[in-house]
Amino acid sequence: MENSRGNVSEAADRRRRINLYKKIIAFVLLFLILLPTFFCVILFFRVNSLQNEIKELKADNNNYSAQSETADPNYVYAAETTTAEKETEKETIKGPLSATTNKVNEQTSAVTEETTSAASLIDQALADGRKVVYLTFDDGPSDYTQELLGILKNHGVKATFFVNGKEGEEYVKDYNDIIEQGNTLAMHTYSHDYQLVYSSLDNFIGDFKKLQDYLYKVTGVKSSIFRFPGGSSNSQSQIPVTTYINYLNEQGITYFDWNVSSGDGASGLTKEQVEKNVLGGIAKNDISVVLMHDANEKHTTLEAVPYIIESLQAENALILPITDDTMPVQHNIK
Ligand code: ZN
Repeated sequence: MENSRGNVSEAADRRRRINLYKKIIAFVLLFLILLPTFFCVILFFRVNSLQNEIKELKADNNNYSAQSETADPNYVYAAETTTAEKETEKETIKGPLSATTNKVNEQTSAVTEETTSAASLIDQALADGRKVVYLTFDDGPSDYTQELLGILKNHGVKATFFVNGKEGEEYVKDYNDIIEQGNTLAMHTYSHDYQLVYSSLDNFIGDFKKLQDYLYKVTGVKSSIFRFPGGSSNSQSQIPVTTYINYLNEQGITYFDWNVSSGDGASGLTKEQVEKNVLGGIAKNDISVVLMHDANEKHTTLEAVPYIIESLQAENALILPITDDTMPVQHNIK
């Protein structure tokens, strides 16, 4: 009797303990399920708020290009029809490799002053109804770079050169002369090889750094302005161009496309066609970023430049090199 009661109470104890364990296990499982859910909810809201921030930043960023496109309905058309490369620029920070901190500071304040005056110069020019024009030359240096620099110098004009990586003393002289004359030295990839630079982010970065480092080595200038071969709206890239753009943004590099094309990316254009495309395009915009090429097979572009500059100067246009503070013209990324 005693024994059987003892067995009964032992069995009841065991059941209670088992129930307790069951409850503990249930709580632990519930906790393990709820914890990740809780973090998921937190992360969801965080991602949402970050996405909104990105949207706002993009909206701000797109204002300028939206204005350009509105001003020139042919803007996208020109970009799609040209086979020319698109180009982006970044700022250049000038200074010899041996520059002291003081010198850097002096240069920084000089750049700030220049920036301020350039911005007010542009505002004033636009208020006076003048055109603002950025002449840009891609793919150099070439056999014609020195001649082109001579034309610019004789006309008192500064332009922007989106260059590729070319080894050799004559090219090193070209890079340095571009800078010494007050033009902007900007990057256009080292190889200009679509198959290479557009095959993967790693290949793009490798090529990008190779050019940036090379130009810094031979000129002492670290460029921060870039143009994509074929432009940011090119159809050659095997991965979304936004992948490269995100990388450039992280590096503090500004890329520039254009809103006026000389059309000289196509072969066989006459001098007159180049002039007509450029001046006709500029006529449609308040601010124009003009795509031309500094390349051996583009002699008619070189021939057209004096007439283009003289025509612009006759109508009192303000011709400037692209700098770090220039509002970029960027194509729509699909
Ligand atoms: Zn190009």
